[in-house]
Amino acid sequence: MNAHDSRRIAEVLQREGYGSTDSPELADLIVLNTCSVREKAEHKLRSALGRLRPLKESREELVIAVAGCMAQEHGGALLERLDLVDVLIGPDNVPELPALVSAAQSGGVRGAAVEFDVIAPRFLTASPDPNAPEVSAFVTVMKGCDERCSFCIVPHTRGPERYRSGDEIVAEVAGLCAGGVTEITLLGQTVNSWCDPTDVHDGPSRFAALLRRIARDVPALARLRYTSPHPRHVTPELVLAHSELDVLPAHVHLPVQSGSDRVLKRMIRRYTRASYIERARALQAARPGLTLSTDIIVGFPGETEQDFLQTLSLVEEVGFSTAFGFKYSPRPHTPALKLGDDVCEELKAERLARLFEVVDRLQERHLDSLVGTRTRVLIEGPSKTGGARFAGRSDRHEIVHIDAPPGCDLTGALLDVRIVEANKRSLVGECDGELTGRSGAGGPRRGLHLPVVAA
Ligand code: SAH
Repeated sequence: MNAHDSRRIAEVLQREGYGSTDSPELADLIVLNTCSVREKAEHKLRSALGRLRPLKESREELVIAVAGCMAQEHGGALLERLDLVDVLIGPDNVPELPALVSAAQSGGVRGAAVEFDVIAPRFLTASPDPNAPEVSAFVTVMKGCDERCSFCIVPHTRGPERYRSGDEIVAEVAGLCAGGVTEITLLGQTVNSWCDPTDVHDGPSRFAALLRRIARDVPALARLRYTSPHPRHVTPELVLAHSELDVLPAHVHLPVQSGSDRVLKRMIRRYTRASYIERARALQAARPGLTLSTDIIVGFPGETEQDFLQTLSLVEEVGFSTAFGFKYSPRPHTPALKLGDDVCEELKAERLARLFEVVDRLQERHLDSLVGTRTRVLIEGPSKTGGARFAGRSDRHEIVHIDAPPGCDLTGALLDVRIVEANKRSLVGECDGELTGRSGAGGPRRGLHLPVVAA
């Protein structure tokens, strides 16, 4: 979501004539987009500003803006505390950025815009670059969060839930797809609580209907993901959509946070261990080979060894293909603050390490089991390992590397791949037949002569 917000910030500035640079020394304006979900994210802002201080002191005219959740959380008070910062904008105030920047540039006026657009929500539509079409793009379906998870600052920094109309969502998906995008990820804090604000008859399970509508109205779309769903909004209709819509990949990221009912209750997650497992099983049964990944918090206030063992056993029982683990971090404005922070740092670190041991073992076992199978892979771009290696994601969301002949760019190709090797966190695949993708930069992505699977 933050990466998506950063893109919208860049687009708004591009329309004002700004270009981007990789060197801060050359920039007239530097925007730091921030997260405040864990305290560590906040430290990053302070160190980034520390690094920028010499630059700002040597060039008075440089404007520094802080965007996102930290700006929202602290509001104008942040301007008083951080002398380096000229402009603050909350997650809903991207359109106000250019005016605030020009006031700072022309008159040295420091300013903040941190208002939620509750009455008339604004959803910024992506404007893709026709010269560099993306393989994969995000489309926002909702903003804010009405859940009251006791550990989470998001309702405070992103405001109440506001939904985008189905028509607008479908139009943006269709536009991106026509511009060359192959994969869309629908985005929302509790994406599956979406309902259509323009439909007076709207009721539960509207999210499943939205998925069906996108599948029907944008048939050229190869893959439709969504993140992050809340387990309590996983309805039978959503499960059914997974068994009926080919465009949905065989993977769902379903944050569980804990495997202990006692902890789930104190987290105000509004589901139990048993109901989570029931929904996970339903999704796994809906689509053969469907993988689940998750988020887990260790060291939540009052978490005992017994509670933590319940989390480890849930991870094994569900068989997650991968998981993100976090040490509990007390956040301002959250109900859990009053529970204290009684699991010491050492114990949090120990539990996180034990969690990763289990997750790594499950992941390795899962990846090993795939050697010799075939899978469809959407190539996202050159692999970080370099050479003529490209990387993409399978329908089950595993990272798959594939070697291309020299000079051949596979970016954007949807390939039928045979898995030949499993590494610790990724797979290596091969294509049968000759790979002769576009050569050189800027060539047409369409018209690849590849053993491409029909979308
Ligand atoms: N609404 C999103 C949450 C975004 S935050 C969702 O349900 O996926 C992403 C993850 O950060 C959460 O799932 C949770 O595991 C973690 N997180 C949130 N608040 C936290 C906190 N106070 N301490 C540690 N981890 C936290």
